[in-house]
Amino acid sequence: STPTLPATMRAIKIPHTGGLEVLELHSDLPLPTPTSGQILIKNAFAGVNYIDTYLRTGLYPPPASGILGQEAEGTVVAVSAEGDTYGFKIGDRVAAFTSGGAYAEYVAVPAQTSFKLPEGIEAGLGAASLLQGLTALTLIREAHPVKKGETILVHAAAGGVGLWLCQLLRAVGAKVIATASTAEKLALAKENGADELVNYKTHDFVAEVARITGGAGVAAVFDGVGAATFEGSFASVARKGSMVSFGNASGPVPPFTIARLGAKNIKVLRPRLGAYVETREEFETYSAELFGFIADGKVGVKVHGRYKLEDVAKAQGELEGRGTVGKLLLVL
Ligand code: NDP
Repeated sequence: STPTLPATMRAIKIPHTGGLEVLELHSDLPLPTPTSGQILIKNAFAGVNYIDTYLRTGLYPPPASGILGQEAEGTVVAVSAEGDTYGFKIGDRVAAFTSGGAYAEYVAVPAQTSFKLPEGIEAGLGAASLLQGLTALTLIREAHPVKKGETILVHAAAGGVGLWLCQLLRAVGAKVIATASTAEKLALAKENGADELVNYKTHDFVAEVARITGGAGVAAVFDGVGAATFEGSFASVARKGSMVSFGNASGPVPPFTIARLGAKNIKVLRPRLGAYVETREEFETYSAELFGFIADGKVGVKVHGRYKLEDVAKAQGELEGRGTVGKLLLVL
């Protein structure tokens, strides 16, 4: 049966880009209307991701609606009559990856990048897993297809994407050198599969990687830290290896001259999740695999904290302040 929907909803909307203060709570915004190919979700959880901070500050252009949030988990309450909605029905429990709008009680998302959660996936696990899990999975499959026995450097290894990378790399039999800024974070990376631990705040990670690899360097670096680590990561890659720069937590990487690649014949990549899971088949296949790992108990999610919608500024502040591990969730 079609649920009765309220006329308005609570949501966090930014009037313009800026500091944490622009994350304003509204209690009377109109519900979004699903357009062609979209489904409307009554949100139970929204994931907080580092990209939300780039969109808030203006490093990346924010969505026109002013409502941030790219990761939702909840129940389908309406399905567009137009476009392909991939068989989604009212009442389905889903997790969705979208361009914005998830910091709200209701969000209209593309059916194409929504995933029907299997039975037994506990509440919150959809929004805690989808974006960062798919990022890690596509990075190790497509950016640098990791082979058993390779040594891989993972920065910010206790972060959201970082803990996924540690677990998935362990699962494929790679050796992980993990960096993080505190002993507690490094211990968590180790629990999640890291083999070698480097505190990159107190130690020169380039020298540590050289020592651990006997001077050879690593087959790939997964670097979501950006400006602060790029040069060191570049120096740490083995001949014919991959430098995968996938984020800018410390700031964007400055322009780079391709002639530098020839010194070791390395590849430099700057992948974006959306371009790996663009088609329905890509999104569905990777999501099914990801939630399959979770259902099998092969991987788990460390939830740093659950926050009320009105406390989103606190959540983003802790994330930007390097005070978190694993996943941050908004509870609607
Ligand atoms: P994290 O949970 O990893 O948080 C960021 C971490 O980066 C911090 O905890 C901190 O760990 C580390 N860090 C290092 N230097 C800084 C700094 N100056 N300021 C803040 N943090 C710093 O976030 P996510 O898992 O959400 O994202 C990780 C990275 O992956 C981000 O860059 C994000 O943009 C990127 N990403 C990219 C995607 C893509 O499609 N390309 C998709 C998803 C994420 P420590 O204290 O240990 O240094």
